[in-house]
Formats: sequence, C-alpha cells, structure tokens
Amino acid sequence: MIPIETVIEILTEDPNFIIKDDYVFYQKMLGKKESTIPADKRASPQELREKEEKIAKGICPICNTPLEPDWEFCPNCGYVLK
Ligand SMILES: [Zn+2]
Repeated sequence: MIPIETVIEILTEDPNFIIKDDYVFYQKMLGKKESTIPADKRASPQELREKEEKIAKGICPICNTPLEPDWEFCPNCGYVLK
C-alpha cells in the first residue's frame, strides 16, 4: 500500500491531474488514461497554447497586464507564470 502522502506528492507534480477526491487517486493508481475532471473544468491544449503565447509576449493571459520577464506571477491578478 502506497502511503497517501506519496500519492498526493506524485499527483501534485502531474499537471494533468487535480486532486479533487479519492476517485481521482484510484483512477491514477489503476493506470486509466481518462481524467475524472469534467472537460469544462480543464484547459484545452488550444487554451494552454494561447496562454503560453501571451506570456511569451510579456502579457498576462488573464488580465493583460504587461509583465517583466523575471516575474513569477502577475502582480495584478496573481496568475502563476512559471
Ligand atoms: Zn494578471
């Protein structure tokens, strides 16, 4: 039996999973590919690409605040950039 702390550690490092309830843990441990997170709660690859492009241009993808290259999050809305 894997300690629950280890499972949480693994999942928090996996950007495809959000810890929502025990069901998510079991899906992952059983090796199923489908996420249990509803599609409308997940960012599509297209949305992620658009956000990355805006960050690359130095603009916050959420609130359009101009960003300095070394900032780790948006000072206006708190969006994590790195
Ligand atoms: Zn922002």
